[in-house]
Formats: sequence, C-alpha cells, structure tokens
Amino acid sequence: MSWEPLTEEQRELRELVRTLARERIAPRAAEIDATHEFPWDVVELFREHGLFGLFFDEQWGGTGTGTLVSLVAIEELSKVCATSGLILAVQELGSLALKLAGSPKQLERYLPRLASGEWLSAYALTEAGSGSDSAAMRTRAERDGDAYILRGSKRFITNAGVASLYTVFAKTDPDAGHEGVSAFVVEADTPGFEVARLEPKMGIAGSTTGELVFDGARVPAENLVGEEGDGFKIAMRILDRSRPGVAAQGLGIAQGATDYALEYARSRETMGKPIAEHQLVAAKLADMETRCEAARGLLYRFGRMVDEGAPDAELTKASAMAKLACSDAAMWVTTEAVQILGGYGYIKEYPVERMMRDAKITQIYEGTNEIQRLVIAREMLKENRAFLLAGVT
Ligand SMILES: Cc1cc2nc3c(=O)[nH]c(=O)nc-3n(C[C@H](O)[C@H](O)[C@H](O)COP(=O)(O)OP(=O)(O)OC[C@H]3O[C@@H](n4cnc5c(N)ncnc54)[C@H](O)[C@@H]3O)c2cc1C
Repeated sequence: MSWEPLTEEQRELRELVRTLARERIAPRAAEIDATHEFPWDVVELFREHGLFGLFFDEQWGGTGTGTLVSLVAIEELSKVCATSGLILAVQELGSLALKLAGSPKQLERYLPRLASGEWLSAYALTEAGSGSDSAAMRTRAERDGDAYILRGSKRFITNAGVASLYTVFAKTDPDAGHEGVSAFVVEADTPGFEVARLEPKMGIAGSTTGELVFDGARVPAENLVGEEGDGFKIAMRILDRSRPGVAAQGLGIAQGATDYALEYARSRETMGKPIAEHQLVAAKLADMETRCEAARGLLYRFGRMVDEGAPDAELTKASAMAKLACSDAAMWVTTEAVQILGGYGYIKEYPVERMMRDAKITQIYEGTNEIQRLVIAREMLKENRAFLLAGVT
C-alpha cells in the first residue's frame, strides 16, 4: 500500500495549483496584504484555469473531482496567500445551500455561474448580536404574495460587496427558535439590499468582510432554499462540509510558514553554523512539521469520507476535528516561524509576519475553536464506548 494519500489524477491537479500558486500568486501576496484590495486578478486566474469548478459536478460545468482534491487546492494556495485560498473556500461555503437543498430551477440558474466563477458567492449567518449563538438571529423574512420581505442586518460577511449571490438566513417564524429559521439566496442587485460597510482587519487583508443591510429587500419566493423552517438545519449541514475549507486554509498557512522557516534556518548562521543545526531551533522545525502532518491526516481523512459517501452524521465530528487541529496548528506554527526568523520574523519584509496575522482568523470563523470542541465532545457523548472499558480494573 502506498503512503501517498492522493491518486495520480489528484496529484496532477495539485501540481497544477501548486505551480499557479508559486508562479502567479506568491509574487502578489505581499501586495494584496499591503493594499487591502480584493484581488480580482486572482479571481480571473482561477476562472481561466477552472479552479472554481473543483467544487462542482460535471453536470454544472465543474470538474467532478471530489472534495479531497478541492481541499488540497485551498491548502496549496494558502501556503503562499491565505486571501487567495479563502476565495476558493468561500465559493464552496456560499454554494453549499444550493448543492444540499436547492430546487432544480435554482440549481440550473446558479450552479453553472458559480462553477465557472462568473459569480462569486457569500454565506450570511452571523449578526452583530449572534455569532456562536446563531439561532438568536433577528433578521426577519415575511411572506408577501410571491416574495419574502427581508429586514435586518448581517455582520462580518466574507465576500461582501464582491459576491453576486448571498446565502442568507432569516427568521420566518421568530417564535419558533431555530426551527423558525429559513434559508434564501439573494442576488446582489436586489432592491432594498446593500453592503453598508467593510471592516478593516488584522489579516486576510485582501478578503472583504462586511455588513449586509436588508431594508425591506423583496426576494422572490422561489429563492427560498428548502422549506420554511429548514434554514438552521441547512446552515449546520453547510458548516459540517465547509469548515474543512477553513482547515485547509489553516494547514496551508502552517505548511507555508514551516517551509519558509526551514529555508531561512538553513542559511542564517549564528555561532559559526546554520541556526537549523542548533538543537533548540531544530526541535522547533521538527514540531512544526509534525503538527502540520498530523493536521493533514485529519483533513484528508475528511475529504476521503465525503468522496466515499460517508453519511452526514459521521461528518460532524470529523469536520470539527480537522478544523480544530489545522487552525490551532496554523496559529502555533506561524508563531514559531516568526521566532525562528528572530527580528526578521517581526518585520513585513518577510512573509511569516503576514502568515501569523492570517492564521488567527482560522481559529475564529466558521465556528470558533471553543465551539468546535463543544461539537466534538457532544459527538463523543453520543458514542457508545463502554465496551472499551469492559474488564478494565
Ligand atoms: C474576518 C471574518 C470573516 C467572517 N466571515 C463570515 C461569513 O462569511 N459568514 C458568516 O456568517 N460569519 C462570518 N464571520 C463571523 C464568525 O463566524 C463569528 O465571528 C464567529 O462565529 C464568532 O462569533 P462572534 O464573533 O459573535 O463571537 P461570540 O459568539 O460572541 O463569542 C465570543 C467568545 O466566546 C466564546 N464562546 C461563545 N459561546 C461559547 C460557548 N457556548 N462555550 C464556550 N465558549 C463560547 C467564543 O468561542 C469566543 O471566544 C466572520 C468573522 C470574521 C472576523
């Protein structure tokens, strides 16, 4: 049995993305970070090379190559530029409601545009007063003839202002708790919908993060995804499948920082030898590489589970563990990388400074790591492991 987790076709796709990342994205990464401008040239590059198609079936113009390789693509891009990796991850996040619960008419209208990258998408769950406790959302959707009228606002939405399609969660029955939440797809030019502001932030500087305002936005009733009241379940099913995208971003950042620190440690000399040969530095490099490889094991396992048809119920824990391990690795490893570069690690001329800032968000969005731990523990409590203890004294 081969140790290589990817098939030949998957390795070829990885090589294609790796080459694009190295030759076309890496030289842009510092500039994207410095200018805080959304990199439309990167979107164009992804369109030209069909990278958005990695998340879609052939029927919609995608590659039909499955989840594992799409995660590998996000990882490869994030090694050099976390903002660019996120562009792919969010295309999946914003499309998943349709893929999981869209009507045939919705699929036909939207999926080809999303698979080609003609349209970017976004996922709007969080509000100013409800992040981890998303069921506490206050945005309302009221039926009015052949439409729903949306009122309220969403906070911290990635791709705000650049997406053409927003998956929006709103309460159709405010007294029914999470069972009163419904999901809609909202086109960017819907009257009554606007992006009110964009947030300046610590990292992933080229990605937009913004506030969406719905002031009586009239959304056609046919844009309801699933049935009224299905929204919360859809939102959670989406996160089970999208969190590994954040994991892949985190892993890419971690591996990129490890690779950079390794090269630096080979050539930087103190006390007559390369710092890589000082045992305390060598130990850091070894721990960084091991954290990356362990996190990769959980992430690729998730990809294979989806590709091999694992039931939804089994994805929840695997997804949360991949997200937790990869994002914690990202933060820990990038901090060590900065340390290995010493003073040079702290200044902007070297990319590990950016990588450390970019890493932090992976522990926060799509469910903080505290929430991931709660999810994992809840799933553990459902498992019957009593037999393991039988006979233990
Ligand atoms: C750059 C960026 C991009 C984002 N993109 C999107 C997006 O595209 N779409 C979207 O919908 N949202 C997005 N978010 C929102 C993000 O998912 C939320 O910020 C996150 O889920 C946390 O919610 P909160 O900020 O309200 O924190 P809170 O829920 O207020 O949590 C505050 C702290 O308390 C902890 N905490 C909360 N509840 C518990 C608990 N029960 N047990 C233990 N600890 C707990 C949290 O872990 C955290 O440390 C984005 C956020 C940022 C910063």
